[in-house]
Amino acid sequence: YTPLAELDPEVKNIIDKETWRQFTGLELIASENLTSLAAMEANGSILTNKYSEGLPNARYYGGNEYIDELEILCRKRALEAFNLDPAKWGVNVQPYSGSTANFAALTALIQPQDRLMGLGLPDGGHLTHGYYTAKKKMTASSIYFQSFPYALNPGTDLIDYPGLAAQAKIFKPKLIICGASAYPRDWDYATLKKTAEKEGAWLMADIAHTSGLVAAQTLNNPFEYCDVVTTTTHKTLRGPRAGLIFFRKDIKDADLEKRVNDAVFPACQGGPHNNTIAAVATALLQAAQPSFRDYAKQVIANARALADTLVGHGYKLQTNGTDNHLVLWDLRPIGLTGSKVEKVCDLMGITINKNAVSGDASAQVPGGIRLGTSALTSRNMLESDVKVVGDFLHRAVQLALLLQKEAGSKMLKDFVRVATVQEDGKQGFAKV
Ligand code: PLP
Repeated sequence: YTPLAELDPEVKNIIDKETWRQFTGLELIASENLTSLAAMEANGSILTNKYSEGLPNARYYGGNEYIDELEILCRKRALEAFNLDPAKWGVNVQPYSGSTANFAALTALIQPQDRLMGLGLPDGGHLTHGYYTAKKKMTASSIYFQSFPYALNPGTDLIDYPGLAAQAKIFKPKLIICGASAYPRDWDYATLKKTAEKEGAWLMADIAHTSGLVAAQTLNNPFEYCDVVTTTTHKTLRGPRAGLIFFRKDIKDADLEKRVNDAVFPACQGGPHNNTIAAVATALLQAAQPSFRDYAKQVIANARALADTLVGHGYKLQTNGTDNHLVLWDLRPIGLTGSKVEKVCDLMGITINKNAVSGDASAQVPGGIRLGTSALTSRNMLESDVKVVGDFLHRAVQLALLLQKEAGSKMLKDFVRVATVQEDGKQGFAKV
């Protein structure tokens, strides 16, 4: 018996099924993780009942004495987790997610129609870094600002820093965004800072994917060079779904503190989700422990072991390996699309996602898949376990190849039948 089971067995049943899927499957989505029971307890708490528009000690509602205490604690822990001096850095812990954190940061730093540069989506950047297509301005970051994407060097698949500097000289952005959703290597923040300084642009790092690894000091430190750093809290940081915006407090006459706080509320958001802020505080407490450093190191060791296993089977990876938690697997040399492999893996209980790889002709038909080791490592997997997972993936890809070769055969039809049952009878493997 639970209150939910009694009141709403339909929703309870869906949660139970998803719980079973998460328990029995292998989670390799690079942007996901398994947050702690403690953080989930905070997230499911009575704090969800409270309105607290404004900031600690300056609210638009009464009854916020404990919420103030909570938000101040969460901010303190955020600065501690990233080893930041409170005299030099501040943080807003209210963003509902990474996307809203990013839009609030843009709102704080630049004016509507000002220019910004971010890594292009097909090269691993995120939608909120100015993405648009030839047909459409897709996201608020390209609708309300003028954006120009920088790219990878097609020879190395690493960020083309000289190309970015040359483009910035012409485009004259007011803001350069670094950080990505699908880039397996670390960032050269020092070089980016030089370019930003030269062009008089702000430098913002979106470390949504890697923030847990940054907090654990296993990757380069963006805080040494950037003016603003945003992150989600639910990827490598292993918290609940939310966002954070860190801002420098020591830039003369900039008042980033007021600009960021005003941009979050009232410009972009309403009342903070206090239950989530509590869960973020708990996750940040965990991230500041020495054991989290071991976790982060293991995430990277596991990603390397996965990469080595796949390379050992003869596959091509973007940049041939990884520095962080993710691996980008280029399926084009073996003639498969990411969608097909994603579907076969779904049927095997291995959750991955299709992803563009550098040089893809169309972002709509991505030629690769993205894998991440954060969630597997949260389940205490080590390199030897991850090697077995790599072997499973090899078998999945071989199966996908066989099915593709047998297109039209009975075997494929049977497979499609199984796939369509799982997909409400609407879509089958052949149409992917
Ligand atoms: N920034 C980056 C680099 C991301 O990868 C993501 C999500 O995957 C986001 C921002 C957006 O986060 P959210 O989905 O919480 O809005």
